[in-house]
Amino acid sequence: MYFKRIEMQGFKSFADPVIIEFHEGITCIVGPNGSGKSNISDAIRWVLGEQSPKLLRGGKMEEVIFAGTTNRKSRGMAEVTLVIDNSTGILPIEYNEVAITRRMYRSGESEYLINNNQCRLKDIRELIMDTGIGVDGYSIIGQGKIADIVSTKAEDRREIFEEAAGVVMYKKRKSQAEKKLGSAQDNLDRVSDIVNEIEDRIGSLREDSTKAKEFLNLRDRYKFLEINLALNNIGNLDKNTEALKGIVSESEEKIKSLVNKRDSLEAEMDQLMEKNENLDELSAEANDNLIRKVNELNIINSQGQVNEERLSAVDKDIARLKGEIKETDEKLNSENAKLKELEKNEEVLQADKISAEKKLHDAVIRLNS
Ligand code: ATP
Repeated sequence: MYFKRIEMQGFKSFADPVIIEFHEGITCIVGPNGSGKSNISDAIRWVLGEQSPKLLRGGKMEEVIFAGTTNRKSRGMAEVTLVIDNSTGILPIEYNEVAITRRMYRSGESEYLINNNQCRLKDIRELIMDTGIGVDGYSIIGQGKIADIVSTKAEDRREIFEEAAGVVMYKKRKSQAEKKLGSAQDNLDRVSDIVNEIEDRIGSLREDSTKAKEFLNLRDRYKFLEINLALNNIGNLDKNTEALKGIVSESEEKIKSLVNKRDSLEAEMDQLMEKNENLDELSAEANDNLIRKVNELNIINSQGQVNEERLSAVDKDIARLKGEIKETDEKLNSENAKLKELEKNEEVLQADKISAEKKLHDAVIRLNS
């Protein structure tokens, strides 16, 4: 006995959760036509991974979700769990009881679980392979299926019995091994083709091989010489390195002293720059002074011109005055000459006056006498 119970909810006519226990012996489900008996075997097929809606007596897979009735609302999800007794170890899994669950939503999304752990459909198929439980096995035989089995081809019937006998897995492995054997044979054929081809070319290959050996010897020799040359170069390089080290340290010293010189020159330059700045300031000041002086000079120059003009007028005045003085002097000289003459005349007249006055006095005296 493998199936322990089946739990359904939202699956076909089972809107509410329903649990059907399968006890020892035969379990019968009895009911009137259309009451939903076949929906239970559909649920078993479906939970074991059936992918064909037709084999579930529908058009589309979503039709397995409870569609609702006049009195009940439809459901958004169908869920079926089939609990299998694994105490005999029929399933290759370390559990005494295995619950396989399948869920489907109206969006078309599906979920598979083994003992409540999410898994792939492939995992469920592998779990029940060769147990006869699978959807292609003999354990689920729907209405009219017996007639199908009886009337079907001997080859198809054989498949059903092979699944029941648990030889499908071995058959599968055998066919895989045969496939591998076939490809190994192909490889072998290819290898023997190559061997034949190589045998044809063996003569020229022998020659090539001798040449190759020669080449390898020469290459080894070349490598040996190349290495020796490299070692020699390395020795020379070491010597050069020592000499270069000396040059480098000398250069470093020179650089140091040049750096010091540069620093002191920079300091000097700073001082000179400072001086230069001062000189610039002084030069600007001197320039200002110069401009001021030039302006003053210009003013003085223009005044000088005025003064010169004045001076020349004064000179002219002086010349004129000198002329006048000369004229006056001449006049004065002539006046002096005239004065001297007049003075002479006056002296003469004075003498005349004195003699006249004497004569007068004498005359008076004589008169009085
Ligand atoms: P019979 O053995 O005479 O064929 P049965 O008892 O096996 O009949 P089923 O054919 O399994 O009955 O049941 C069909 C019932 O399931 C119908 O009443 C149908 O309306 C109902 N049914 C099928 N799919 C759904 C669904 N998605 N939602 C609601 N009810 C559904």
